[in-house]
Amino acid sequence: MRTSGPDETQALAARLAERLKPGDIVLVSGELGAGKTTFVRGACRALGVSEPVVSPTFTIGRRYRGRIPVSHLDLYRLDDLAAEDPALLEDYLTPDAIAFVEWPAVAEPEFANVAARVTIAHAGGNEREITISV
Ligand code: ADP
Ligand code: MG
Repeated sequence: MRTSGPDETQALAARLAERLKPGDIVLVSGELGAGKTTFVRGACRALGVSEPVVSPTFTIGRRYRGRIPVSHLDLYRLDDLAAEDPALLEDYLTPDAIAFVEWPAVAEPEFANVAARVTIAHAGGNEREITISV
């Protein structure tokens, strides 16, 4: 699907969010500035999260309070999960929460309940090509 601005990307994410349930994991891929965090923000708003949704910086993840708890992970700075504490993800990938993971590749084998894979690519200006596969 093609979006022409952040609002449209958030609306698309909100539609996906309606189908998610606790324990679901959504992997969000795409280069820096593609709109991964924007997408996660749209999904979070639809799930009733009112606090700011920004990429975690000093930790690998954040938890938000919504109608359903939401975890937001960004593994950009995680070079090698094997070299880290393997329990690192466990605080976030809990059965009660819906989890969104930016830069998931480094931890790909760790994700059991992948409900959807989202890929966002620049398509000129504010256009983005977004693929959602389940
Ligand atoms: P990422 O998390 O992938 O690094 P961000 O969501 O933080 O990306 O940033 C995306 C930037 O691109 C934001 O400044 C956003 O306003 C802008 N943008 C422009 N057009 C779009 C679009 N169609 N979808 C999403 N973001 C867009
Ligand atoms: Mg981001």
